[in-house]
Amino acid sequence: MRTYRIFLLLIMIPCLSFSQPDVPVEEWTGKTILLIGAHPDDDAYSLGTLGLLQSNGNEVYIAILTTGNVGTQDPDLSMVDLANIRKLEEQAALAAVGIPLDHYTNFGYDDGLLEYENKKEVVAKLVRLIRQVRPDVLFAFDPGKGEQRWHKADHRSASYLAADAARAAMWPLLFQGQITMEGLEAHTIEEYLLFDSAEDDKNTWVDISTFKDKKITAMSQYVSQWSSGWYKYEGPDLSAEEAEQVRDRVSKRIHYRDGKAVEGFRHYKGLPDNIGR
Ligand SMILES: [Zn+2]
Repeated sequence: MRTYRIFLLLIMIPCLSFSQPDVPVEEWTGKTILLIGAHPDDDAYSLGTLGLLQSNGNEVYIAILTTGNVGTQDPDLSMVDLANIRKLEEQAALAAVGIPLDHYTNFGYDDGLLEYENKKEVVAKLVRLIRQVRPDVLFAFDPGKGEQRWHKADHRSASYLAADAARAAMWPLLFQGQITMEGLEAHTIEEYLLFDSAEDDKNTWVDISTFKDKKITAMSQYVSQWSSGWYKYEGPDLSAEEAEQVRDRVSKRIHYRDGKAVEGFRHYKGLPDNIGR
């Protein structure tokens, strides 16, 4: 009996630790995808994959929790200025990879302070969005597998808020006013592509070769983040020389595997209760 149990455990270990999509992500079609991020450039971890999915007949939606209104070292930019700048940058980036602008939602929280917001309120808003969009797949910061993954402020909040909202969305008695008063229905998300995971936890690499240039163009739209605009913002238009420098800089963020441009994720399929296992 004991031998049988050990044998069972041994054959189960690979299943427990190595989730893979049933169909390669590059071949997905007809799915609804939702990304939950903290800042208006957090989609940069997966812009190639998101663009590829949208162009392959999936519907990609982006929900960002904060306006990114403190992400600068320019002492002359106000929070309102920066929120507006980053909104336009985000819209330009999404357009560069073909994601419709009406698929973008920003919840308007202040940058840097997400973990001090009322969690029940934030989760309620995310649950409402999940019940409206009804995604098949959720993209989110990886909260960690087995143990908590450290992320910087806002990213760590976004990782847990997304997982908590995914879990709450499936229970009809949680935030039931959305169901009884707003006509929404409970929704279970069964598949996840988690980004910014620990390297050892990544189990899925999406070939973004066909979207590499578009991803670089998209990331180059974040002028306030990647150019001299970080210190002194002078509008979205850069000199030809600086625009080239920005493209070079963001190009270095592209990852390669077996010679192909890729984006790496931790894929998880199952109930949201077990995202971290
Ligand atoms: Zn961020």
